[in-house]
Amino acid sequence: MTDAEFEAQRERLQKLSERWLEPLGLKWWHVTLTYERDSGEYKVDGEPSPRSIANCAADWRYLNANITWNMLQVAEQDDEELELAFVHELMHVFLNEFRALHGDGATHGVERDDWLAHEERIASTLARAFVWVRERAGAGTDDITAISTITANVNGVSASA
Ligand SMILES: [Zn+2]
Repeated sequence: MTDAEFEAQRERLQKLSERWLEPLGLKWWHVTLTYERDSGEYKVDGEPSPRSIANCAADWRYLNANITWNMLQVAEQDDEELELAFVHELMHVFLNEFRALHGDGATHGVERDDWLAHEERIASTLARAFVWVRERAGAGTDDITAISTITANVNGVSASA
């Protein structure tokens, strides 16, 4: 990946960050993005994982989160796919604290991998829900007040916009 390609992909993620962090309430958190340029180096939980697009590490106690992006995989995504992946990772910021209840072994008869599979599905489901709500609210607008408009509609109050 050349410098220019890397910069173009970094900008796509930066735009998504500006588009999503505030309406999701994540300005309360300190969310950083890290960019791994060479997928041969890309690891999840210490294991090489060149086909993963991103990994979220969050510390719910201090409201810190870091999302590490595999830039070669980022470059493979069209805008719609990348947005879903981006919001999916942000959902992990919220969901990650349940992992603290879980340790490395089985808890309440549930193996860690099964637990993580459920977290993945919830993150995917919520990411789609948020993207759909936003699309319905403003047909792709970056106006975050569109979110309160759709909320008003859901509550039966007529929209002002
Ligand atoms: Zn995930």
